[in-house]
Amino acid sequence: MNKRKKRKIIIAPKCDYCGQNNESFIITATQHTFCMEQTPGYPATKDCHTDWLNHKDTNVQEEKEKGLQPQKEKQSQEKEKVITSEERAAIVAKLNNYKTEMKQRRFREKRLS
Ligand SMILES: [Zn+2]
Repeated sequence: MNKRKKRKIIIAPKCDYCGQNNESFIITATQHTFCMEQTPGYPATKDCHTDWLNHKDTNVQEEKEKGLQPQKEKQSQEKEKVITSEERAAIVAKLNNYKTEMKQRRFREKRLS
């Protein structure tokens, strides 16, 4: 009987932020349950509601940043591609020039000797 009574009295809902069951809790207007450990006259030792609100804000910011990143990456990738193809063309041109130059030199050397 005693155990049953205790179980009924102790209400420890699951916190919507940290997932722990806490006897000290608050329920928000949006039916969210959060840990709230606070001694009257002292700052809260555990305030998952505030943490959750802060976490929500950072999540929104992260999502915004994530939304911008793919565009940035795409732009830089396209830029890099243009640069590499130009560089490749320049390198190939230089190599061809060098090869023809070497051939001409060898040809001239042969002619001279
Ligand atoms: Zn919590």
